[in-house]
Amino acid sequence: MTTDMLSWTRQQIETRKALAEEAHGASWALQDQLIERTDGGADDRAALLDAEDRTELVSVTLPGPGLDEDDLKHIAFNDPRQIIADCEADLGILDDHEPGWAGLKRDVRVCMACDVKRGDRWPCRTVRRIASRYRHRDGYLPEWAPEGTTP
Ligand SMILES: [Zn+2]
Repeated sequence: MTTDMLSWTRQQIETRKALAEEAHGASWALQDQLIERTDGGADDRAALLDAEDRTELVSVTLPGPGLDEDDLKHIAFNDPRQIIADCEADLGILDDHEPGWAGLKRDVRVCMACDVKRGDRWPCRTVRRIASRYRHRDGYLPEWAPEGTTP
């Protein structure tokens, strides 16, 4: 189970990172616009832009059904640059918490970064927490959850 959890988690992170690397641009920004109509009125519009070349990625007329300005703010805050940084940090943390063997017979699998005396056998709480970031993805097993994780 534990090796599968680590492999599965790394796969989730690598997939997320690859999708971010393939997305348009690195950094996204939100722009509010007032678009004049032919009838003399105007529509309020929110657009998600590539922050560097100002390419419009998606826009919505407000108020409207579906995506709204709060959704676009959320998307912009989670732009490819942020996702790649998150993924690189998580992969580094997983590297830091590689398992090793302890005990007189070298028969207890432990996290080499955590305090073994505290009871952090492999997988340690840190690795379980990283895995739990993906708990809503197919393949995550409830028994991997660290204590206190919301379903
Ligand atoms: Zn650890």
